[in-house]
Amino acid sequence: MTELSERYTAVLERIAAAARRVGRQPADVTLVAVTKTWPAETVLAAYAAGMRHFGENRPEELAAKRTAVEQVLGMDSGIVWHQIGTLQSRKTGLTAVHADVFHALDRLKIAHRLARELAQNGRLLPTFLEVNVSGEASKSGFDVSNWVEDATQQDKIRTAVRTMNELPALPLRGLMTMAPWDAPEAEIRAVFRQTKRLADWLNEMETAVHLTDLSMGMTDDFELAVEEGATHVRVGRALFGTRT
Ligand SMILES: *Cc1c(COP(=O)(O)O)cnc(C)c1O
Repeated sequence: MTELSERYTAVLERIAAAARRVGRQPADVTLVAVTKTWPAETVLAAYAAGMRHFGENRPEELAAKRTAVEQVLGMDSGIVWHQIGTLQSRKTGLTAVHADVFHALDRLKIAHRLARELAQNGRLLPTFLEVNVSGEASKSGFDVSNWVEDATQQDKIRTAVRTMNELPALPLRGLMTMAPWDAPEAEIRAVFRQTKRLADWLNEMETAVHLTDLSMGMTDDFELAVEEGATHVRVGRALFGTRT
């Protein structure tokens, strides 16, 4: 086995163990292999090791890498390309054309632009709303740091999911969040748990909305995220090593 296959197997085993600890099925968790900063050759090696979901945070990089990979593997490789980073509005065109899933919708303006561009291309882009649970100013996403008490935050997030529901080109899959950097485990777990609670609450309040997925967990915290209900974990360093 190559070193990459060994790392892949180890990450899959850790996901499976975390799922089983809480009575979940390992198959209910999708591992998105985050290849940002790595060349297309890394994606090809990961593909050979069995990986099929790849995540990029910059739309230019996703577009270029996808094109390079398709030159080798063709269009029917079964790869799913995930745009995991937030978008600037002038970059939505690249995502509308090249991404298969979008994890980081943080403003409705972006949703409206994407919806127009997707319609022009006849594509659908399953989407996650990014939520900022910890309230850290450095984090993007809808501010839901005090949603249980704050009626304004509740209104904003409910309006966001209702608006998304009216944009058929952007099927709303669920919520995405990032845990605080280097925080105690209890604090990280609380962020994931609040995200799940918020999704449950939105499903209850907005009966037309069906948030089924939760994109949460990275190299340092994906097992906690799986224990708290993640359906998508976005893992880079544990698979590919430290980015240079
Ligand atoms: C880079 C990145 C990841 C993966 O981070 P690792 O710590 O390498 O696992 C996950 N999600 C987003 C949004 C990222 O930008």
